[in-house]
Amino acid sequence: MLPDYIQTQADLGSSTTLALPARAEFLARITRPEQLAELARHPDLAGRRRFVLGGGSNLVLTGDFPGLMIAMAIPGRQLAGEDPQAWYVSAAAGENWHDFVQWTLAQGWPGLENLSLIPGSVGAAPIQNIGAYGLEAGELIDHLEATDLNSGKSIRFSAADCAFAYRDSLFKREGWHLSGRYAITRVCFRLPKAWRPRTGYGEVAAELARGGIDNPTPLQLAQAVITIRQKKLPDPAVLPNSGSFFQNPLVSAELAAALASAHPSLPRYPQPDGQVKLAAGWLIEQAGWKGRNLGPVGMYEQQALVLVNRGGAKSRDVQALTRAVREAVLARFGVNLSPEPVFL
Ligand code: NAP
Repeated sequence: MLPDYIQTQADLGSSTTLALPARAEFLARITRPEQLAELARHPDLAGRRRFVLGGGSNLVLTGDFPGLMIAMAIPGRQLAGEDPQAWYVSAAAGENWHDFVQWTLAQGWPGLENLSLIPGSVGAAPIQNIGAYGLEAGELIDHLEATDLNSGKSIRFSAADCAFAYRDSLFKREGWHLSGRYAITRVCFRLPKAWRPRTGYGEVAAELARGGIDNPTPLQLAQAVITIRQKKLPDPAVLPNSGSFFQNPLVSAELAAALASAHPSLPRYPQPDGQVKLAAGWLIEQAGWKGRNLGPVGMYEQQALVLVNRGGAKSRDVQALTRAVREAVLARFGVNLSPEPVFL
């Protein structure tokens, strides 16, 4: 007998923000961490393929899932502690990321404002170390708790254990997000009391200047980020999408210099390791794909980096457009784009 929080042959159509049709052989909706230990022990589920689902905002379902999909819906957020330097704020994996960020700001605990309106859940945030406008979640994570889905045991990972890097962490590097090895159940953030706004990104500075704001409060900075994102990014409830569809590529300084001499307006962001980060959205636009469709999918007219489902798309449509965009960028710039979402 399966516990009542597990469905069989479950419809996943509304479980991802790209809204592709698919089914899961088993779908467990987890609202308490103890249920994860139950799953690990259950004889009917032993040895099955697993996948841990957060907000479904970074996932392309390429077909039915033959195994156990674990949807993390554990609620809860609280002030876990305070010292003279910082607030320690803890949130369970199922909390919506944007709602959590806005709640911290409303409580008077700033720090996460640049990460407003990033889609997804708190539990998924550490895996790809979400970041935006000069801030990465990993910088403010103190530790997190996860359940080992092989043993059912709970384990604490410090920020150092997580080995955060640009859109990367130990969880992603080890492939645990694909193998369903761990489910992150709770994340604790350390928010320093000595706050200073991060306004280094051109778009943020321009949005604040438009509002005549010189020294933004955390809420003003959050609002600027929200305004920028709402202009560029479609609401998945209206136009299904999975956010940025390609990673911003890192290329050698030589290739970046050669490209810039052929394309003087190429945006280039030199990295500490000598590589140069390019803007994938700019490359896609220049390759002619901004606002262009292929069947029922397309690259969004306001932001070429976002692949949108204009209605009734299947996984093969997404894969065809992915190929077409990659080939166009490779042909024009010699740069290989990698998709950002997980293809499952
Ligand atoms: P954007 O602001 O048009 O920027 C495009 C690229 O230029 C990004 O690689 C960005 O770096 C880089 N860039 C821009 N200004 C920079 C500066 N002053 N210094 C260094 N690098 C700079 O990008 P967008 O697509 O509209 O996205 C806005 C922000 O949301 C970006 O920070 C992006 O990374 C972030 N984002 C994050 C996720 C995620 O966490 N999964 C998904 C979508 C977008 P960075 O990428 O280092 O910021």
